[in-house]
Amino acid sequence: MEADFWSNLERTLKKDVGATSYNRWLAQVKPRHISEQKAVLTCPNSFVLDWVKLHYYHSLVNAIKELAGKEVPVELSLADPSENGTNNGNEQKKGTHQQRTLPGTENYLQSLPYINQGYRFDNFVVGPSNHLAYASSLAIANSQARQYNPFFLHSSQGLGKTHLSSALGLKILSDTTSLKLFYTTAEWFTHEMIQSLRKNRILEFKEKYRKQCDVLLIEDVQFLRNKEKTQEEIFYTLNTLIQMGKQVVLTANANPREINDLKSNLKSQMGSGLVVDIKQPDYETRKKIIIKKCAEEKVVISQDVVDYIARTVTTNVRDLNSALIHVIATSSLLGESITMDLVKESLKSFVQKTKVITISDINTFVAKQFRVPLEQLGSKSRSRAVTYPRQVSYYFCRKYTNATVAEIGQSLNRNHSSVVRALKGFEDNLLTNRSIRDAVDILTQRFEKEYL
Ligand code: ADP
Ligand code: MG
Repeated sequence: MEADFWSNLERTLKKDVGATSYNRWLAQVKPRHISEQKAVLTCPNSFVLDWVKLHYYHSLVNAIKELAGKEVPVELSLADPSENGTNNGNEQKKGTHQQRTLPGTENYLQSLPYINQGYRFDNFVVGPSNHLAYASSLAIANSQARQYNPFFLHSSQGLGKTHLSSALGLKILSDTTSLKLFYTTAEWFTHEMIQSLRKNRILEFKEKYRKQCDVLLIEDVQFLRNKEKTQEEIFYTLNTLIQMGKQVVLTANANPREINDLKSNLKSQMGSGLVVDIKQPDYETRKKIIIKKCAEEKVVISQDVVDYIARTVTTNVRDLNSALIHVIATSSLLGESITMDLVKESLKSFVQKTKVITISDINTFVAKQFRVPLEQLGSKSRSRAVTYPRQVSYYFCRKYTNATVAEIGQSLNRNHSSVVRALKGFEDNLLTNRSIRDAVDILTQRFEKEYL
């Protein structure tokens, strides 16, 4: 297959369906075979395959016809595992770093990390939960001074770490042509290192990351837990890079202090620059994310549907996006418009799939964390040893469940207005009192680890 044909096709399709839809869907389509007689294209999974067939088949046929100058039958099928790599058109664009594959790693190709072109600053929805993370990522992308080094971004899953770190990398690459940027994951780094050791190419490996790299992004460093050799290698690599004033960006599912089984020198090195977290998006931000996504997908939905999805899917942005895509796909497959009934029906299975957190889960968790008997949480006691955990319970119930204030109050024998008052006081404290905020952050992380 000629590379030229494919890149022309990419351009034509982008013009036709818009860059966002292209990046989301068509960028995943790869050529297996293209000739004048037939074009066989593959999709990485059946969901993408169905979606592309449904929405973009005609665009594909037309674009190929336009470029080939004649009608060419187009066949869409599932990719074989060996075709399932990330070696798509996306990756080969100028600027994005293409990691070379080491011999013997073919089976591993599936998880070869690359920067997703669709993750940019301009399509990241900013709200109170991620504002700081967004602003710091942008500052680092814009700064040559490297005063925030390493930059450590953490959150539970699906909240935008990969989106922001990719946006940061893409911005650096688009602003400068001379900088060499490596984007990888801790898992891939480990894998690459083991392969290099096996093939007696460890010096080459070290050289690549320590000497040939101006900006290093390593995602999901919690993977390094218990991997002492890789930890050591990363420690020295980061040391070298930071000393040379090269930017290092790391992401993880927890603060470096909280990642267990990580050597203490690595923990303190990783935490020695700027450490920023992303929290769960609040209701308003969830609504903005839904509205933005709909605009990208060119779908119109009513305000009450937006409200319903934002209230129902509270876990993280990834779930929010999948719920929305599910709704859009259902409406499209059934040929019906997106009504409240359709949304409720189509999200039923989705809601069941995601773990539903109950008020009682939260009360039990809080009681355990504060070592207060559960009965006391619901008692009349006004001692701080009980009122504080009680407030944490209310706060978590608001954050993680769909329950009304009255239901939350009922669970601990309180009325509506006393919950509202307590919540207000607690949230004010959160804003003004750093130690309360830190304590709640730690509880949040523990809670999410156990329940999400
Ligand atoms: P993480 O790396 O933290 O697990 P990702 O960066 O992969 O999460 O985000 C999951 C999905 O949610 C991605 O599709 C990403 O584009 C999207 N996403 C996350 N946060 C936002 C946001 N604030 N605005 C728009 N999309 C977002
Ligand atoms: Mg990620």
